[in-house]
Amino acid sequence: MAHRMDSAFAALDLLGEQQGAGFGSPFTCRGEVLNAVSPIDLEVIGRIRTAAVADYETVLRAAAAAFKRWSEVPAPQRGEIVRRIGGVLRDRKKELAEVVAREVGKIRSEAEGEVQEMIDMADFAVGQSRMLYGSTMPSERPRHRLYEQWLPLGPVGVITAFNFPLAVWAWNALLALVCGNTVVWKPSAKAALSAVAAMKLIWPVLAQSGAPEGVLALVIGGRGSVGQRLIDDPRLPLISATGSVEMGRHVSQAVSARLGRTILELGGNNAVIVAPSADLDLALRAVVFGAVGTAGQRCTTTRRAIVHRDIYERFCSRLTGAYRKLRIGNPLAEGTHMGPLIDRAAVEAMQAALEKARGQGGRVLYGGDVLAGGLFAAGTYVTPCLVEADADLPIVQEETFAPILYLTRYDWLEEAIGLQNAVPQGLSSAIFTRDLLEAELFLSHRGSDCGIANVNLGTSGAEIGAAFGGEKQTGGGREAGSDAWKAYMRRQACTINWSRDLPLSQGVDFSIE
Ligand code: NAD
Repeated sequence: MAHRMDSAFAALDLLGEQQGAGFGSPFTCRGEVLNAVSPIDLEVIGRIRTAAVADYETVLRAAAAAFKRWSEVPAPQRGEIVRRIGGVLRDRKKELAEVVAREVGKIRSEAEGEVQEMIDMADFAVGQSRMLYGSTMPSERPRHRLYEQWLPLGPVGVITAFNFPLAVWAWNALLALVCGNTVVWKPSAKAALSAVAAMKLIWPVLAQSGAPEGVLALVIGGRGSVGQRLIDDPRLPLISATGSVEMGRHVSQAVSARLGRTILELGGNNAVIVAPSADLDLALRAVVFGAVGTAGQRCTTTRRAIVHRDIYERFCSRLTGAYRKLRIGNPLAEGTHMGPLIDRAAVEAMQAALEKARGQGGRVLYGGDVLAGGLFAAGTYVTPCLVEADADLPIVQEETFAPILYLTRYDWLEEAIGLQNAVPQGLSSAIFTRDLLEAELFLSHRGSDCGIANVNLGTSGAEIGAAFGGEKQTGGGREAGSDAWKAYMRRQACTINWSRDLPLSQGVDFSIE
């Protein structure tokens, strides 16, 4: 248990048993104990007492009660409190990143980037708190004013995936807060310690700022005691859920059965098209980072490269050369490019996908091995894999959450765009070209069908400024920047009659005399 004595864990008060629920401070839970196991070496780095059904109820009641008070606070004042949340995240960025790196195996700079994304979201939300704009429309009736306003929605349920254990919460929660909502967070059981760490940093800031207790709540627990309850709970008008397509389908059906709202951020199957005019150095760097970064465990990971026939062999040979140079190992060590997969089950899923790929006619060009010995004895480390495969193989249509890149040739651009769009998911996409006409076609209505379309940069590593999300089975949700805040509010159309008459719209006559 050497890690648990580390200063970051001590500084964040993560030594000893943690409580898996709280709403201002943790409270004593009555569920089972969940071990936080690091994929780096399978060491138990934390123990969390999860929430039982009664604990879930306590949290929900607190979040619902806090909503009444929080929605009374003027939005810019809510923003001021979010500014302070950003402050503590800035101060403790390194320690929090260390917990993320240990718990989910991200390399240090990516883990720090994760916390930076929370900070960026805090800054964004502070500004947004003064810009919850509604519009005024000209009324067709004399002396009437017609306008729309945006009002707080209620307590919001936020379900997050393991691979962005904190950033995705921040995308949702910090906007939801400035919009006047309270937030109930159910993190992934594979990243529960990071969630506890973040809440233990943020709760004291809320208390010092005078925010009502219950504004930000945490509840960690199993499907029965927490997950299903949360999505079925009519006290939560909105559920924002990030994770696999399978999870999204289930959540969507449960929430729509009670006519609630969802924001769904689900799996991707992202492609890069490399055109003959591409700057190959750029394309290569982008594809390697996109396919191998976060060990292929980003929703925006590059899973397919569709490369023009004329440059295919050259591109593949350079790509293989770059893959050979990758340093795989302890993500906390200087210079490591790729750490472990989240657990052995993920390694097995990768092996099973490669088996299918081979069976369906794919050809492994490089990698795909499970590493063994020393640190690798954890059984969670693999070599990233390059597979030559026809675009229509069944396995290529699936998102395997691992560093497998499928490579395909194309002859003309419309064909490449067709191949890119011919998967059920629609998150991120990219083209490398120096031909303006090709770039414009890719970005047009006849181009990429994804929520994200990039030219001369890769599929992953989005900024927070634009609304993030994808189409088709990716779920259609949008989070983070732009006008994503609107999903966390209810819109109201208001008409004020300041005349002494009652004209009806559309000229309807209903005079009684
Ligand atoms: P997952 O679907 O296994 O779990 C995600 C979350 O949903 C977890 O908190 C889990 O406990 C919860 N969950 C699962 N089933 C549930 C149910 N029936 N009811 C309530 N909650 C339930 O996903 P994961 O393995 O943690 O993450 C990887 C997946 O997430 C990938 O598919 C990836 O593409 C996707 N992802 C998408 C985005 C995006 O923004 N589009 C971002 C990150 C991850």
